[in-house]
Amino acid sequence: MPPDVTPARAADIPSLDRLLNDTDFAPALSRFSRTQVTAALRETLAALRQQAMLGELHGDALSAQMIARSVDARLQQNTRPRLRAVFNLTGTVLHTNLGRALLPAALQESVLRALSAPVNLEYDLSSGGRGDRDDVVEPLLRELTGAEAATVVNNNAAAVLLVLNTLANRREVVVSRGELVEIGGAFRIPDVMRSAGSKLIEVGTTNRTHVSDYSDAVSARTALLMKVHTSNYAITGYTSSVGIDELAQLGRARGVPVVVDLGSGSLLDLARWGLPKEPTVREVIAAGADLVAFSGDKLMGGPQAGIIVGRADLIARLKKNPLKRALRVGKLTVAALEGVLALYRAPELLAEKLTVLRLLTRTVSEIETQSRRLLAPVQASLGDAFEVTASPMSSQVGSGALPADRLPSFGLRLRPSGARGFGVARLEARLRALPRPVIGRLADKALWLDLRCLEVEDEAEFQAQWSTLGR
Ligand SMILES: *Cc1c(COP(=O)(O)O)cnc(C)c1O
Repeated sequence: MPPDVTPARAADIPSLDRLLNDTDFAPALSRFSRTQVTAALRETLAALRQQAMLGELHGDALSAQMIARSVDARLQQNTRPRLRAVFNLTGTVLHTNLGRALLPAALQESVLRALSAPVNLEYDLSSGGRGDRDDVVEPLLRELTGAEAATVVNNNAAAVLLVLNTLANRREVVVSRGELVEIGGAFRIPDVMRSAGSKLIEVGTTNRTHVSDYSDAVSARTALLMKVHTSNYAITGYTSSVGIDELAQLGRARGVPVVVDLGSGSLLDLARWGLPKEPTVREVIAAGADLVAFSGDKLMGGPQAGIIVGRADLIARLKKNPLKRALRVGKLTVAALEGVLALYRAPELLAEKLTVLRLLTRTVSEIETQSRRLLAPVQASLGDAFEVTASPMSSQVGSGALPADRLPSFGLRLRPSGARGFGVARLEARLRALPRPVIGRLADKALWLDLRCLEVEDEAEFQAQWSTLGR
């Protein structure tokens, strides 16, 4: 039958009730609720009326089958989750915009179980009385850091806020000018101080601060000496900063607690796996810090959380602050945190089991082999529009951790080949529109796909998507 291209009028559009009863709508009604199908059909019919008004509606668009097809597309679109799995090929392992640390797959079951079954979140199973949600992870945190006590809040920004508000409300906190950091997303130490009600006393200079700068600033109004780990930048050259041990000595002599915002705190020395050295939480506690705050979802590789460890009397005060209640974590976080912390008890297996560490320790040669393996299928799906090359790249840890350190990596570089290519920006947009979006990095008129974070078991899914790209 030739296509019916005679113009159609709005009056020719079938009624909603008639369509819903048509057999062409049975599949949609079996997969979605009647409410959803009706809503999508209303939208579709409104669009058809609009077309009719513009004189752009043709008779063949009005069959129940055609309308059912567009309703189906609308339903797919409307019901697609907004939060979706993507491929992080940006080269930044802890990418804040892409959710930072990835929870080890082996923990999925226990985390889901904690969500779908009642749990002893704040219930003491030995006494039958009320418990504290920190009790679930505190023993592990004490064991892994050597600290006396621990508490957990929503993220490290909240941890710092809680510490300052509890211990230094309307009082002074001494910080080196070299450590007044801004962390992406509007976390600035001076702003957090203000929100917490603390007065910031800056000492030293950007590049050099001495212990005498701190001691000169200490007075009866001083509540804390604070050190902030400058995790997202490095000051090099003529520099000097005061070590935690030295500051702790001063703090003890003057009766002022020393607090360290460690940022991306690490529980084990990463040098063990050939990665750059970051101070571990245990080292900072051993050096004499009274409290240490760090993120759960940076190098530690766990869920978003702010962990505070240190002196039991100070932790007890934090827990009494009403802010603690406002900043507390949910059972989802507690379950994930317990699982991840438990992995640290078997450090020999950590590089295999902890996703973040596994990704950070992948070797260049392994990633290069993978790049060469994927080169042909990717090139084939792009045809001659792009020139794909396996190319050395450098990854970074991300989230401010180890900013100056680059990890040699490998990946695919996609460059338009001459005038026939449809532009690298359009390719980038098309990859973002895939069912599992592929996120790369645009630079030098090319799209760079760093394969460090493409695990081998995800390769098939990655590859399958490329075949749909040419169409
Ligand atoms: C990342 C970071 C924070 C903020 O931690 P979140 O967990 O993202 O809230 C605070 N301080 C430092 C030094 C950091 O590196």
